[in-house]
Amino acid sequence: MSRITRRDLIKTTVAGGVAAAALPGLARGRDTRPTKTRYIAAYDTESPGCLAACGRIVEVHKRLEMPATFFIVGRVLDAHPAEYRKLLDGPLFEIASHTYSHRMLRDNEFCGAAVPMDERREEIFKGKESVERVFERPCIGMRPGCGFDNAFSGEPKVLQLVKEAGFKYVSSLLWGPDYSLPALLREPFSYQAEGFPDIWELPGHGWHENLLKDHNRWGPRRLTLWPPPFPEAVPRSFCKTPSDEFEVNRVFLDKALETGMPFVSLIWHPWSLAKFDPDMKMLEMTFAHVRRTGLKPSTYGQLYQSLRKSGKSS
Ligand SMILES: [Zn+2]
Repeated sequence: MSRITRRDLIKTTVAGGVAAAALPGLARGRDTRPTKTRYIAAYDTESPGCLAACGRIVEVHKRLEMPATFFIVGRVLDAHPAEYRKLLDGPLFEIASHTYSHRMLRDNEFCGAAVPMDERREEIFKGKESVERVFERPCIGMRPGCGFDNAFSGEPKVLQLVKEAGFKYVSSLLWGPDYSLPALLREPFSYQAEGFPDIWELPGHGWHENLLKDHNRWGPRRLTLWPPPFPEAVPRSFCKTPSDEFEVNRVFLDKALETGMPFVSLIWHPWSLAKFDPDMKMLEMTFAHVRRTGLKPSTYGQLYQSLRKSGKSS
């Protein structure tokens, strides 16, 4: 199959051209007015299989000039520092932390109990140190392993560590209510109530895509909420094809646009994306939709900077 280019995407935006014909599932004739809703491609980079997968992902991002945030586990990064630096260095990508070794920073119903506080400190500080040592640039954001349904709300001790380490934002709200999926389209908020008005929560949205494909081999689980707050975002079965996955993605992208969300970002994992879709066709379909609908490509770091400048935390 021929590869689509950035130019193809622009043509699609303007006239519903080449890429729309090549990509299934793209509706034509949509409103393409510019919008301020940002789209953030983000990757929880967390296991040995992620390195090769990132090579394929980066190729698509560079070809389509699409920025991204890579949240990387420090231990994974330290296993291949030169390779990751070569792959991800450059202005298109933000490198953030996915903790040092993916241990839990608070209790998670599916992933287990929080580790002791001294180990949580290590996860936070060593994770940041690893990114900054390898990439020689500031690491301002952290996504904790697995995430939580209540973010770091009511966790001032962890937030104190986050602040001491020098992080500006966390992305920890990655589940819907009562540990359901999908994670709803939640806006950024500051941790003012916990006494940290300068630390921002920038949530993730949608499904942990690995679970859409049963890649954790959990089988059917009690994951969705009743009554469902977002029924159209719940597919009838596991995704079988990249188009299936794209159709789930577009529900979130379109809803974010319709409701004027500041941003939308899905929860993706390189190892799982590559296992399901080695040619990364889902990425092409999703990024084409982003361009066509007028979403504004961004990183989490850029979203944070825009919030800080707008002074919304005060
Ligand atoms: Zn993870």
